[in-house]
Amino acid sequence: MKKYAGAGVNEDWALRTYTTRLLGGEPRLVQHGGGNTSVKTTVKDQVGDSVEVLCVKGSGWDMAVIEPPGVPAVRLVPLIKLAKLKALSDEDMVNIQRGNLIDSNSPNPSVETLLHAFIPEKFIDHTHANAVLALVDRPDGETLAREVYGKRVSVVPYIMPGFALAKACKQAFEENPKVEGLVLHKHGIFSFGRTAREAYDRMIALVTLAEERLAEGKRSKPVPVKLPKKLAAPTEIAPVLRGLVSTPIDKNEGRWTRFILEHRSGPRVLDYVNGGDLARYSRAGVATPDHVIRTKPWPLIVPAPEAGRLDAFAAEARKAVEKYQADYRAYFERHNARAILKKKQLDPMPRVILVPGLGMFGLGATAKDARIAADIAETCISVVSDAESTGRFESISEAEIFDMEYWSLEQAKLGKSAEKPLARQVAVVTGAGGVIGAAIASALKREGAEVVLLDLNADAARAAAKKIGGLGLECDVTSRASVDKAFDAAVGTYGGVDIVASNAGAAWQGRIGEVDDATLRKSFELNFFAHQSVAQAAVRVMRAQATGGALLFNVSKQAVNPGPNFGPYGLPKAATLALMRQYAVDYGQDGITSNAVNADRIRSGLLTDEMVKSRSKARGLSERDYMAGNLLGREVRAEDVAEAFLSLALARKTTGAVLTVDGGNIAAAMR
Ligand code: ZN
Repeated sequence: MKKYAGAGVNEDWALRTYTTRLLGGEPRLVQHGGGNTSVKTTVKDQVGDSVEVLCVKGSGWDMAVIEPPGVPAVRLVPLIKLAKLKALSDEDMVNIQRGNLIDSNSPNPSVETLLHAFIPEKFIDHTHANAVLALVDRPDGETLAREVYGKRVSVVPYIMPGFALAKACKQAFEENPKVEGLVLHKHGIFSFGRTAREAYDRMIALVTLAEERLAEGKRSKPVPVKLPKKLAAPTEIAPVLRGLVSTPIDKNEGRWTRFILEHRSGPRVLDYVNGGDLARYSRAGVATPDHVIRTKPWPLIVPAPEAGRLDAFAAEARKAVEKYQADYRAYFERHNARAILKKKQLDPMPRVILVPGLGMFGLGATAKDARIAADIAETCISVVSDAESTGRFESISEAEIFDMEYWSLEQAKLGKSAEKPLARQVAVVTGAGGVIGAAIASALKREGAEVVLLDLNADAARAAAKKIGGLGLECDVTSRASVDKAFDAAVGTYGGVDIVASNAGAAWQGRIGEVDDATLRKSFELNFFAHQSVAQAAVRVMRAQATGGALLFNVSKQAVNPGPNFGPYGLPKAATLALMRQYAVDYGQDGITSNAVNADRIRSGLLTDEMVKSRSKARGLSERDYMAGNLLGREVRAEDVAEAFLSLALARKTTGAVLTVDGGNIAAAMR
């Protein structure tokens, strides 16, 4: 509280921020940008006059982590005056709200701002609490709410958020100004209070009443369908599904619109997807209107995949995806036909996939979006299950869902920043705990990819991943089992793999005529066979997706320009160069590119600071001159190598190529 005082935030505003965070921290009440809160207070304007304002949640802020700038102050009197109007367009509403902001840099006030303004209570809280939704998302939801709450709340029939809903709520409040809150049919709940504490306590009490009501009486579980005796694993079907929901942007360019997939399979999810009536209740609509922008109006259902029969599953899933798109296009046409302002159809791909036996996938352009879709789908599953166990779930009508999905104010919540070139792709980098691997992962992440960082040293992998926001895992690339496990984890986390930078390596030395077999074989294990294991695992996932991919190998100048006593290192690297070309030849038809980077003289685990010191000394050079001893006279850094990997990941018309990053060394030039 004290920390806000200095920032010109008064006590009301600070308390408002505090209890908003309390509500936002409870996922059964509020999720991902849903819900909003307000307080009516006074602030001083530039000339020191007191102004009555409504501090109301700003659009785009998450209640769980809100700060005072996320609760912008709007002049209250001009807002209240609007109640006199018969109608007000959304555009005018947003314009007036923005025009009355005290700080013009604030985010747009919530789409439910006028509702907060029209009700003359000091603190107002609004949530889409699961228990309340499970109670009111039914044909008899209004009656049930009256039964449970009596005179403590007024019940408002469903109206889409905006001016009309604000007026209806004003009227419901004026009919009984003693109410503690409002229940909005098929939408959520509001609570009021003279203090932040009172509004919060009432919200909890009212939601608890709904929870208690749901716990009463006989509860029934859905009757499960019969599943195949042995099911395929989620990590086997994820790449197949990911491929099926991808759309080619331009086949000749090898560019696709892909999705990241997040898998969920808790007991409630499994009960739900295994229910015999899944097709009915899963298509019955959203739990609260604004969920539609995250989950689409209904999920995609695919058959339970039998182990060992993935081709049959893929064929049926393909049909299901095609039907989903056709249904979505028809839904759009049906409702766009009656829209006064014609809309532009959004992509017709699902955001939630239900798989009997295996659970559910949330889909999104990023891992974060996929997680949000999965969270919201789980909320919907919980609400539908609770409603169905003591009655029948019913959402708003399809037309009302369309109006919400295509409402400009809802679409604005999703943001429209241009996507980065590697957005929606998943990259795996080996040896990512080292300087070069970490730099590669960082460059791929910077351009939008979700990254999986593998390293023999688990701590190093996790530390590097934490720095850039990726998944860090222990992996011994010389063990096929360990590689398969790591790829399973990558697929389990993001749904697939599109780019692989096979970078892990280490240098062994010895005169080739005298070196012992054990050393040479050890080097071959890491500097050749590990690349083969990694590439095989990658190709298996990429082919299941059928959207191409990029294989990248870290070779070495040793592969083309052997140095004395570096045979044990150079020989397997030369084999890996040939391996890269073999993959280019064998998998070009699958749209998979295979390329290599030849880097030389980079400070890293292979060329430590001590080695630089001793080698430069031995040649009578300064460290700088030694490191920059190339045609360009420039030291090559790990970041330069990473840029080479990145450009080959982006190059969709180059395969079988070696990109040299060594500042110029004509003896190591490819010929
Ligand atoms: Zn709402």
